[in-house]
Amino acid sequence: MKRVSVRPASYAVVAIMGMVAVWLTPALEPKQIFPLAPVVVSRPGFEPTDFLFKPVVIEASNTELVDTLQISGVINSSLYNALNESGVGVLPPSARHQLAWSLADIFEYKVDMSRDLRQGDRFHLLIERLQKPNGAIIVNKVLGAQLALANGKNPLEAIHFDTPGSSTGQYYDASGMSLRAAFLRAPVAFRRISSIFGARKHPIFGEWRNHTGTDYAAAQGTPVRAIGDGVVIFAGVKGGYGNMIDIRHRNGMVSRYGHMRNFATGMRPGARVAMGSTIGFVGMTGWATGPHLHFEIRVDGVAHDPKLALQSRGGEPIPAGERVLFQKMRNQTLASLNQTHLASVTE
Ligand SMILES: [Zn+2]
Repeated sequence: MKRVSVRPASYAVVAIMGMVAVWLTPALEPKQIFPLAPVVVSRPGFEPTDFLFKPVVIEASNTELVDTLQISGVINSSLYNALNESGVGVLPPSARHQLAWSLADIFEYKVDMSRDLRQGDRFHLLIERLQKPNGAIIVNKVLGAQLALANGKNPLEAIHFDTPGSSTGQYYDASGMSLRAAFLRAPVAFRRISSIFGARKHPIFGEWRNHTGTDYAAAQGTPVRAIGDGVVIFAGVKGGYGNMIDIRHRNGMVSRYGHMRNFATGMRPGARVAMGSTIGFVGMTGWATGPHLHFEIRVDGVAHDPKLALQSRGGEPIPAGERVLFQKMRNQTLASLNQTHLASVTE
């Protein structure tokens, strides 16, 4: 009888030892996998062979490679086409596309990129290029930009400069004045005006005679933004304008937005709006044969040319304590901007 009871006891001991051994064994690390996001080397509609990608051995690491390069070009058909050509070999197509939008954002208080550009306009860009650990190449930052409009007086300049206290870098002109101003130059973001991207002729929307505004072609539902801080003084239907909003700004100027599909919530007389905030969405209400935004600037009830009315008079200056550093950076940036031998970095 005794023999019989020893056996299960020893089995039990072995079983327990086994369980303890398993319990004490450290857990295996999950297999180290570094997913590689595919690098965009082509997009539908672009030539797939224009971006030469150098084969590189990619080691799993968190190292990001950053370098600075200069890109310049002449606008012949559109800003995007010009950047697309200038960036061949140094940036993937997606980054070139982004760069066109970045440039429009930098100068959005100065230039309406959707209509102020002309054939022969020149640009110089100084960019920080970043290669991610997975090999993807992006534009990390635009350090400086120069835009010489054929019909403008002086080239417009933008110097990226971080002032202490402001988290995001701002852009200043060569004299140290912020490019930020009281009004945006366009009520629709440049990246949204895709339908006339590259178009030389302005589309006609079958509007009424004595047309006094500016039309922006954009898809139904595209957000419409207030060009400056102000108060809504009209939001409703008005004849040929269809769904229309009038905003009065501090200087007494009124901006008018027509043909909208619908308004953003809270748009009624008396409502306060901030510069850049969405007030409604592009549509074709009223006298319009296609979706677009009708935009007007009115002073004392008379429509004025937005190009003149929205001319900015210079923003905030660089703080006094930062001027020396700014001037150093400005000189460096402007010198690099005009160096042409950097244009083709990868040869
Ligand atoms: Zn119009």
